[in-house]
Amino acid sequence: MNRASRALPPGAVIGILGGGQLGRMLVLAAARLGYQCHVYSPERDGCALQVVGRQTVAPYSDRTALRRFAGDCDVITYEFENVPSDTARTLASYTPVLPDPSVLETTQDRLNEKDFVRSLGIKTVPFAAVSADTELEGACAVTGLPAVLKTRRFGYDGKGQKIVKTARDLTRAWRSMNGAPCILEGFAGFEREISVIAARGRDGRVICFDVTENIHRTHILRQSMVPARISPALAARARKIARTIADGLNYVGVLAVEMFVTCGARGPLLLVNEIAPRVHNSGHWTLDGANVSQFEQHIRAITGLPLVEPVTAGPARMVNLIGADVRAAGAWATQRHASLHLYGKKGIRPGRKMGHVNIVQRAHAASR
Ligand code: AMP
Repeated sequence: MNRASRALPPGAVIGILGGGQLGRMLVLAAARLGYQCHVYSPERDGCALQVVGRQTVAPYSDRTALRRFAGDCDVITYEFENVPSDTARTLASYTPVLPDPSVLETTQDRLNEKDFVRSLGIKTVPFAAVSADTELEGACAVTGLPAVLKTRRFGYDGKGQKIVKTARDLTRAWRSMNGAPCILEGFAGFEREISVIAARGRDGRVICFDVTENIHRTHILRQSMVPARISPALAARARKIARTIADGLNYVGVLAVEMFVTCGARGPLLLVNEIAPRVHNSGHWTLDGANVSQFEQHIRAITGLPLVEPVTAGPARMVNLIGADVRAAGAWATQRHASLHLYGKKGIRPGRKMGHVNIVQRAHAASR
């Protein structure tokens, strides 16, 4: 058996770049499989640090800390997609990093990401790069109005994006970006938003969870539902898109592909909005609504354990507890079919993800 096909033994150390709630849930899933984790976080109060035995708090640019971290780990992964790709490449020179750092280079820049998706023959909204005043008019001619102006890099949860309805709005939005390179996207008048959480193993096998339907407010995910309210044929198309992307990236681990469902002349169309090269908020329902969670599936993929064919327990809903929503945690804790997940974050701030609740109607419970 060669080294690549051998699974890491229990007790091996998984390095996680990023100390947020996704890292926290990865640590918990890894512990169940007998692995240890080492979290590398630039922030001292990262909520993953509360549940992990080994930790490094240092900037992503600290080469000494990176070398020491890599030396302690058998494999390294990310819970945060904006880790500088240089950091990931430095680590990869010491210890395997999965998914490969090249994935970050494709997905960290919205323009590269959309070019890549199109290169696979997959549809997106119309888009154009904007890096100067003089490009606004031409970009607008490509996308039409309304449109969405987004910074090419470092955007998440609606940060660095503005909806524009008129040419004047666009000029104003562009000025507010302070010269950051941007992408202008046509506004998708979507029927609904969906995502596919897919896992790709080291052997190239891809397994997808059931397609999830997502409801955003002010660009932040509020709720996810499974099954998505789409036909089985459209769900199969969505899974095929995710598989094509995972193969195209030669990906190892869990990734999420977010898509818009729009109304085409010959039936529904799927437009890829974004790829998240990590476990994803719209997959949190899998913690209680499937026989394997996205977190466990990711740990399995990067350690070389076999992936599990997911079975959904029944219709499920995930509700994010954002900012002051967390004050209702006590009430959620008394609900019979609700599972509460709190991230241990101290300060409540608007837009801050504090926890989530999964409500699963298990097939056997529903018939009681
Ligand atoms: P993103 O950061 O690109 O994932 O955007 C967050 C959310 O903003 C999406 O899930 C949509 O609800 C909305 N959004 C982003 N881009 C567009 C677009 N081009 N057209 C319509 N809505 C969008």
